Amino acid sequence: MAACLQNHQGPIVVLAHENPDGDALGSVLGLSRALRAIGKSVIAPMEVPHYLRFVVEPGEIVAPLSEWPADTLVAVLDVDNNDPVRVAGADLTTFSGPVANVDHHGTNLRRADAGVVDPSRPAATMIVADVIDALGVPWTEAIATPLMLGLNTDTGNFAFESVTPETFECAARLRAHGARIGWLTEQLRQKPRSYFLLLQEVLGTLEFLWDGQVVLARVDDVMLARAGASWEDVESYVGLLRNAEGSRLAVMIKDFGDRVKVSLRSSGGVSAQNIAVALGGGGHVPAAGATLSESYSEARRKIDQAVAAELSRASASTPA
Ligand code: 5GP
Ligand code: MN
Repeated sequence: MAACLQNHQGPIVVLAHENPDGDALGSVLGLSRALRAIGKSVIAPMEVPHYLRFVVEPGEIVAPLSEWPADTLVAVLDVDNNDPVRVAGADLTTFSGPVANVDHHGTNLRRADAGVVDPSRPAATMIVADVIDALGVPWTEAIATPLMLGLNTDTGNFAFESVTPETFECAARLRAHGARIGWLTEQLRQKPRSYFLLLQEVLGTLEFLWDGQVVLARVDDVMLARAGASWEDVESYVGLLRNAEGSRLAVMIKDFGDRVKVSLRSSGGVSAQNIAVALGGGGHVPAAGATLSESYSEARRKIDQAVAAELSRASASTPA
């Protein structure tokens, strides 16, 4: 991966997944800053959500590309390059040049010209840190901080079961290089008023299913309008639902009218990934998602079916 980036003389376009999170943005910023430090020409197109803008320096992220510069190498981060619908920032289906991939999703098909896919890493930024080491770029606070952002957000502040001794070793290394963890945490905790007003709406839709093992909520644009909120305000609600005592699955459904996006978080032997895959999506065992191109009621029937199948699989394979 490092050799591929090092040897490429033309522009390097760095992309991540749609609806970017801290790990997607952190990976893009960390790698872009490192590549620029060794004289590479980097283009990083992304629509950065409002709550993450604090970490972006003026000019380093650009609007989505409408055409490919000549002699481009594409580096796709925190998403499978074989899933071009999920890759944002440029239309990968119209690109025929070399593609490098760094990802930590187990569902990755592992077809790229160069790449590292490692599902044992709780954040893609951990792999990016290794690539930066292999490139021999001198570490700076500006490179370490966005990589720490990815670690922070994808591990739930170092709280998930996915955290390994190596995760803390990586965090220690980034911290030693000056990563501003206190500043990141403080900035990420700030929520706009619309977040709370929309939460009030969303809690009105809360359902406890399967004897409380499943907690489900729904949000649509009418609720958004009433709260003066945006879809972005919804992102962290699923993390709140998973805190319900006795629950093993949190389901947050964004109802866009003609399609729905479902976010899944699981624990206690239940696989969010199995449910997401059954619905045509993907992700990790404890956190996964899918988009269904149908109305809420139609999609809801499929979601309920996939949830039922996974719960019976989980209870069959886990002795009570
Ligand atoms: P979220 O629910 O936060 O959108 O996503 C949780 C995890 O599932 C993330 O790792 C994300 O990459 C993955 N994911 C979410 N939606 C999809 C999807 O439609 N397809 C695939 N392959 N992965 C998804
Ligand atoms: Mn990630």
